[in-house]
Amino acid sequence: MVFECKTGRCKIGIMGGTFDPIHFGHLVLAEEIRNNFDLEKIFFVPAGVPPHKGDLNITDKELRYSMTLLASMSNPNFEVSKIEIESEEVSYTINTIKRIKERLKNDDVEIFFITGADAIMDIELWKDYKELLGLCSFIGATRPGINAEHLEKKIAYLRETYNASIHLTRIPGLAISSTDIRNRVKEGRSFKYLLPETVEAFIIKNNLYR
Ligand code: ATP
Ligand code: MG
Repeated sequence: MVFECKTGRCKIGIMGGTFDPIHFGHLVLAEEIRNNFDLEKIFFVPAGVPPHKGDLNITDKELRYSMTLLASMSNPNFEVSKIEIESEEVSYTINTIKRIKERLKNDDVEIFFITGADAIMDIELWKDYKELLGLCSFIGATRPGINAEHLEKKIAYLRETYNASIHLTRIPGLAISSTDIRNRVKEGRSFKYLLPETVEAFIIKNNLYR
């Protein structure tokens, strides 16, 4: 991951996910947060070996990386990092954030880890979450299917209990998930307009999710 802070004080976003496949829900989340928090860059970090996602049905990491790259191409502020897919280990966010901090070797860069509401609701199940919550700032965004009031309460609780730096942001609700897209492809239903056309074409060309 290459990032040079030219202004002396930079803020970047890191967004983890399986991205199987990446869709407009992910892209709107990243762009809204970039804009609302004035972040210089957003790094999408496709998971190599995602925890809690039962290995078998996950698409090859290189293919998920390619789709993430295709989807981020049109935004000059989006980058895709190979930091998790280069490793054979289970992709725990705590390790990724530590590695990113080592690579940046720069205290001028403030890291914001970007998540949707479902991820924030389960964050206490993540590896070493107490330490993780102290390593960087977090941004939790609304997501259809998760009650916004519950999210607000959870964030207040995480702040109080763990002294976490965690922000809540409301974004346009897109009820899109990778699971739904995979099911649509498998069942031969249309999955147009839920993700970039380049990714749609890539899925068809590589016969994914059939
Ligand atoms: P899956 O159905 O396979 O779990 P997903 O659509 O939830 O896929 P992930 O790769 O699991 O996508 O999500 C990565 C991150 O993006 C998570 O923090 C998740 O909360 C967030 N996210 C995904 N889709 C949306 C959406 N539609 N709105 C807001 N946040 C989202
Ligand atoms: Mg998910």
